[in-house]
Amino acid sequence: MNIALIAHDKKKNDIVNFSKAYQVILSQHQLFATGTTGLRLQQEANLTVHRFQSGPLGGDQQIGSMIAQNKMDLVLFFRDPFTAQPHEPDITALIRLCDVYAVPLATNMGTAEVLIKGLERGDFSWREIIKESE
Ligand code: PGA
Repeated sequence: MNIALIAHDKKKNDIVNFSKAYQVILSQHQLFATGTTGLRLQQEANLTVHRFQSGPLGGDQQIGSMIAQNKMDLVLFFRDPFTAQPHEPDITALIRLCDVYAVPLATNMGTAEVLIKGLERGDFSWREIIKESE
């Protein structure tokens, strides 16, 4: 599965800790991330990650482009609900595209926990069927 990981600055420690906790599961998949989040995951969670641009520089849109091509199977997006983001339109667009393509999306760690356990159980195999049928 192709998995996108994104975290706003105040949520970066959370996504690093989450990724360390689920390193064994995540490392079995192709991981993509916005620039700074990806760097921290590489350095601190020992994961191989394809890094896009930093979020404010277009990283969310690059991940959105993969969603629009139906190449992303899961998005784990640790949002900061308390801080205004300069690239808010990009964030809204990314979330909208997840809804357009029915891509499972977590916007907080609670949902991410549920989705990653589903991933471990094989609940996402329907994504392969969708991709094969295209
Ligand atoms: P970053 O981007 O991982 O490059 O910080 C995430 C964001 O702030 O949208």
